Amino acid sequence: MPNRGKLIVFSAPSGSGKTTIVRALLERPSLNLDFSISATSRAPRGKEIHGKDYYFLSTEAFEKAIKDREFLEWEEVYPGQYYGTLKSEVDRLRDQGKNVVFDIDVKGGMSIKKAFGPEVLAIFVQPPSVEVLAQRLKGRGTESEEKIKLRLDKAQQELAFAPSFDHVLINDELTLAIEQAEALILEHIGQAHGEK
Ligand code: 5GP
Repeated sequence: MPNRGKLIVFSAPSGSGKTTIVRALLERPSLNLDFSISATSRAPRGKEIHGKDYYFLSTEAFEKAIKDREFLEWEEVYPGQYYGTLKSEVDRLRDQGKNVVFDIDVKGGMSIKKAFGPEVLAIFVQPPSVEVLAQRLKGRGTESEEKIKLRLDKAQQELAFAPSFDHVLINDELTLAIEQAEALILEHIGQAHGEK
């Protein structure tokens, strides 16, 4: 079989710094990574762009895609807000030989792990504490108090999933977390290609 790209899942409570880590890793040519653009029914935030950050779909379009079995996994991550990984997206990137990075919630991460087994490296990014998480979410200034509360409640639930992942990366110092993530990925893709 030709070398198809490998899969690297990053899951974490919102505000843990996961997206910043993923962005930094995408800049490293040695990792040969590309980002799995998820579909969502939530509205774009700030400078988010359709087809780059997410495929922004209406609720109706998202539900039709569920019915048509277009998703590898999907979740109603927050009430009324769907998120999902399109089969076509993962095939597109793997066919190019890219290693595919997922920035998805813990349940989605576990679904990808189940579907692809050892091809997947699942990394849980953990904030140093829930207090730090609350500060980061408030500092971002993109969500209302009510939305922040929802995210913190969800974070508490998500932290319980950490032990199911291959690695828990504590994001206390960002530069260090990025270095650690890079080392884990290099090990995974090296192994996957039988180069160890
Ligand atoms: P945000 O609204 O902050 O962009 O994302 C909210 C949550 O949805 C994050 O935890 C993010 O990882 C998760 N998420 C994004 N895309 C997907 C996806 O395709 N599937 C699942 N299950 N979760 C996703």
